[in-house]
Amino acid sequence: MALTILSIIGIIFTTAGTLSASSISAGPIKIVTSFSILKDFVQKITEGNDAVQIDSIVPLESDPHTYQPTPKDSIALAQADIIFINGLDFEKSIEKMIMSAGFTGKVCRTSDGITPRTEPLDPHLWHDINNAKVYVINITKFLSEHDPTNRCLYKKNEKKFLEQLDLLDRWIRKQFERIPENQRLVVTTHDAFWYFGKAYNIQFLAPVGISTDTEASAQKVATLIDLIKSKNIKAIFVENLASPRLLQQIAEETGLTLQGILYADSLSTTTGPAATYEEMMRHNVTTILQAWEKAAKCQKQ
Ligand SMILES: [Zn+2]
Repeated sequence: MALTILSIIGIIFTTAGTLSASSISAGPIKIVTSFSILKDFVQKITEGNDAVQIDSIVPLESDPHTYQPTPKDSIALAQADIIFINGLDFEKSIEKMIMSAGFTGKVCRTSDGITPRTEPLDPHLWHDINNAKVYVINITKFLSEHDPTNRCLYKKNEKKFLEQLDLLDRWIRKQFERIPENQRLVVTTHDAFWYFGKAYNIQFLAPVGISTDTEASAQKVATLIDLIKSKNIKAIFVENLASPRLLQQIAEETGLTLQGILYADSLSTTTGPAATYEEMMRHNVTTILQAWEKAAKCQKQ
């Protein structure tokens, strides 16, 4: 079903729950995801099916908020059999390109069915494992509708992955158990961890808002510095996609040292600490815990 004509012929966005079945033509199924976390989810569900080719438009360690698709991306989108996006304005430039690339198939908005935070509209739903499970269910349903021959394989992989996610959630809860809730405060680059914070009772503060395409205002930075001082926050991190400059300045103003890197909107390369969704979650949890425990130790001395 690869397409070469670059024209708008009527793109159809649909929820995973309202699809009508359609089949894929012979040859490898070309799957395109907007960013790396979705690629990891799709890889988990299609594991064992060698007849799929999965590509992510936004490369590893690149920022989906600000990514500008290239002509090569336009070709990849036009030739795709299936496209998975997050939605909720997370990858606006890619959505625009899907419209102009001549893709005539269906796009799965993997966040469909989850009630998002709306004030402000927050697309970072995957940081709550319960939401990640909905993504996985949506992806499986969509793939099964489009490639019914492999429905059983996808269902089996879905079951295995959902169980892994449940285990991961239990592990995270266990890790945070020993930290009193009033001490669960974290400063990071942008407002990407609200869902993570809600799931595990952690308050995240950031100088930059939901999208990294806006700059932090001087007022917001000053308020944050006051909060760090008044609440005695020690856990301050930079994110993998952001320049450390602003957080470095905030750390200097408050007498703190940056405590490591958190992964929010992109996985790391395969040699990094967050090459899969599960590794990203474990890395973020461990990095935050280490900073809290180090701070607690210092206070006792
Ligand atoms: Zn983000």
